[in-house]
Amino acid sequence: MKTLVKNGTVVTSTNEFVADILIENEKIAIIGQNIEVPDAKVIDATGKYVLPGGVDNHSHFEALNTDGVTTNAGYDTTWVALKGGTTTIVDFCNNEPGMNLMDSLNYRLNVRAKGKLAPDMALHTCCTDFTDETLDEIPKMIEFGVPTMKLFLAYKPTPLYMDDFKLLSCMKKAAEHGMTMMVHAENPDILNYERDTMAAKGCLEPKYHYMTRPPYGEAESVSKSIRLADATGCPLCVVHVSCIEAAQVIQEARAKGSLVIGETCPHYLVLDKHKMDNPDFDQACRWVCSPALRDKEDQDYLWKCLNHDWISIVGSDNSSIPLYQKHWGEHDFRAIPNGCPGAGDRLNVLWTYGVEKGRITKQKLVDIYATLPAKLNGIFPQKGTIDVGSDGDLVILDPEYRGTITVETNPTGVEYNVFEGMEQIGRADTVLLRGEVVVEGGEYLEKPVMGKFVPGKPYGLAYDLKK
Ligand SMILES: [Zn+2]
Repeated sequence: MKTLVKNGTVVTSTNEFVADILIENEKIAIIGQNIEVPDAKVIDATGKYVLPGGVDNHSHFEALNTDGVTTNAGYDTTWVALKGGTTTIVDFCNNEPGMNLMDSLNYRLNVRAKGKLAPDMALHTCCTDFTDETLDEIPKMIEFGVPTMKLFLAYKPTPLYMDDFKLLSCMKKAAEHGMTMMVHAENPDILNYERDTMAAKGCLEPKYHYMTRPPYGEAESVSKSIRLADATGCPLCVVHVSCIEAAQVIQEARAKGSLVIGETCPHYLVLDKHKMDNPDFDQACRWVCSPALRDKEDQDYLWKCLNHDWISIVGSDNSSIPLYQKHWGEHDFRAIPNGCPGAGDRLNVLWTYGVEKGRITKQKLVDIYATLPAKLNGIFPQKGTIDVGSDGDLVILDPEYRGTITVETNPTGVEYNVFEGMEQIGRADTVLLRGEVVVEGGEYLEKPVMGKFVPGKPYGLAYDLKK
């Protein structure tokens, strides 16, 4: 099968030029001028931008909560990512109840996601049940194609929580084998102190969620994690950085040469914590995620961090939790499942509030939404760029589109969109996954799903940093 995209303005992380792109047998075969191929399907991209398909470093489809209950929407909703211009998700695989990490990876691919995956998918492993076997699994997972592992440093005393002994053990082993460690960095004792003190006073509405997850709790945990990474030589990715204090810790460490990469999320770039002040619980609960949403100053600082490469990646942290589950915390904010949907809006938010507002260049957008996430996960240059030999994953973005984000136009897999009512400029008009048109006119084409597992190579982005 041959697909020819003509006359688009091709944008990569370093360049911008008008060209034709021929995709043959799922791969980009030629990038050039005036390409004519009689038997190719031709797509006219005149006046539009052609970007690499997005790589989302952070999604949770069909995730398990602390009790092993499935909270988030399943893989049959992964098409929302494709519709929004993400052609590869990197999903988290926690321990299934009673299973080791390798069996959990196989279960996720061959049972949970089987036949449902719309975009391609790489995986992070996420240890939520540390056993005698865990460290021996690290080289096996790398061989399997999963060179990244996340630990939750928050959520004490649930099974998700990992203490410093476990973090240090994993980092030592990871450093030997080229695995990148990832951390959800919030100091659980600080959070528990703040929460329980507030709850004891009867303060149980959703707004107490952000009031009891202070920036210093995040910064403290980031700082500790970097210190352990420095001591062990283990590459580290701090996911969902939300505030100035935490970002500054990463910024200083990078200046000193630490192997640390920061990720932030669209909701921390454009939404503020006062969403949770709404007296209507049904509204306020939608924005309960962790770390919590912060202030306008934090948003401004995070954009600045992206421009200086102090923070390198924007992942969605997609957690599509249905409202009836959010209502579990109706009388106590501590019982609201944490997370916001967003897999479909990553590109929209970065384009509208980044490129169109003059905060980032188009090249920077490509870097933070596709190229660097692909490198981090060891799937570059197969994914994350437009180059000969790369997969034919393309987004043809229409810069003339004007709209308002609603859950109808920008679906999330659940009943609400946390960016509801916000202006949107530009959209993914056409999306190609390995040369196949999967989105046309901004709408997902319901054809047989074609998502595949993409194995990653070890060392990832840290390999670039070490050179
Ligand atoms: Zn997450």
